[in-house]
Amino acid sequence: MTVDLSPEPAVADLARRTAQFVREVVLPLEKRQRSAAPSEAVRRELQDAARAAGLFAPHVGPEYGGHGLDMRGRAAVFEEAGYSLLGPLALNVAAPDEGNMHLLEAVATDQQKERYLRPLAAGDLRSCFAMTEPAPGAGSDPRALATRAERTSGGWRIDGRKWFITGADGAGFTICMARTSGSAGDAGGATMFLVDAGNPGMKVARHIETLDESMFGGHAELVFDTCEVPDDAVLGEVDEGFRYAQVRLGPARMTHCMRWLGIARHAQDIATRRAGERELFGSRLGELGMVQQMIADSEIDIAAARGLILRACWELDQGDPAAQSTAIGKTFCAEAVWRVVDRSLQICGALGVSGDVPLGRFLREVRPFRIYDGPSETHRWAIARRALRRQASELAR
Ligand SMILES: Cc1cc2nc3c(=O)[nH]c(=O)nc-3n(C[C@H](O)[C@H](O)[C@H](O)COP(=O)(O)OP(=O)(O)OC[C@H]3O[C@@H](n4cnc5c(N)ncnc54)[C@H](O)[C@@H]3O)c2cc1C
Repeated sequence: MTVDLSPEPAVADLARRTAQFVREVVLPLEKRQRSAAPSEAVRRELQDAARAAGLFAPHVGPEYGGHGLDMRGRAAVFEEAGYSLLGPLALNVAAPDEGNMHLLEAVATDQQKERYLRPLAAGDLRSCFAMTEPAPGAGSDPRALATRAERTSGGWRIDGRKWFITGADGAGFTICMARTSGSAGDAGGATMFLVDAGNPGMKVARHIETLDESMFGGHAELVFDTCEVPDDAVLGEVDEGFRYAQVRLGPARMTHCMRWLGIARHAQDIATRRAGERELFGSRLGELGMVQQMIADSEIDIAAARGLILRACWELDQGDPAAQSTAIGKTFCAEAVWRVVDRSLQICGALGVSGDVPLGRFLREVRPFRIYDGPSETHRWAIARRALRRQASELAR
């Protein structure tokens, strides 16, 4: 089996231009920002600049103004965008909008694409994806889904509570997962609904204070109380929501990895620069063995994470669900990125925890990635179960 992981020349060029744009336009603006949370004005300014540079929404098809990048193409470009916390927002490839665009492109009707995907791809509105619920509802185990949707004469009525919904406040629409058959604990029976902003049955109950700050709109708790939606608000088929969630979650896991890999590289660049300049104990920091070990370990983590991402992307591009590869890639990458940022901060000494370099901020931003898109423990559990099943089926042959 031949696996070619090198990007096409057009993709390599897009990645190079993205890197230049991030260096020349996004990073200077990021440095000027007082808070890690970008404002609507900053979003507009950055997105206008990315549009003018021909870099906007590269993942969607040309009919929506993008370059139609496949997953391997996204790996090259999103890593460059992710070198800055604001790069993905500038290119309109930030979570959760990027994952929602992917889902809408794959599942929505033509009419839904016009109404939701087109303005989302253009950056005219934002979106959110509402799956997680406070206990005892859906979290690591989506089958615990408790939010319900009941049929009415004109459509559906949704009732339930969601939390940690990124970007919910100010989103133009929400993709809400609700149970349409069975009960909590059942493996099927979920449906996705497109709920417009302004629906009187959907309210932001509160903003949740979290360790991270850079995701646009923060993370909110949402209440669905007699939330009426028409029949054409159903995304895909009724009761097929868990299947569509896999359409979104596998690739979305990998695109998160790509963006955070950019931050890991940025952290490593700060550390190696410091190690090359700082003198102590009669030598440069970078000449001391223990610092070299940290630098080498981070190089290994970055290279291995990139390799695993590309391997999973290659499978996804072949139409494979890539459940095992995306789980392995996500688990390794989320932990590797944390290690790289942590080592980089250590190499910089007190400077590392200061506001003079962004490493403390990076650390806060990457830590939650070991929890969302499936906690490391959930993925390890699933990875081990697949390995055990494989062994059992080999023995049965
Ligand atoms: C910053 C952030 C943004 C988020 N954005 C969104 C969003 O936009 N939309 C959305 O729907 N959700 C979002 N989430 C929620 C996220 O998807 C959930 O937090 C995640 O699925 C875990 O669910 P939980 O928090 O309920 O943890 P629980 O399900 O309560 O799990 C708690 C812990 O149990 C352990 N665990 C889990 N499975 C196993 C296992 N099999 N074996 C052993 N231990 C295990 C893990 O350590 C896990 O952290 C976000 C979360 C965060 C932190």
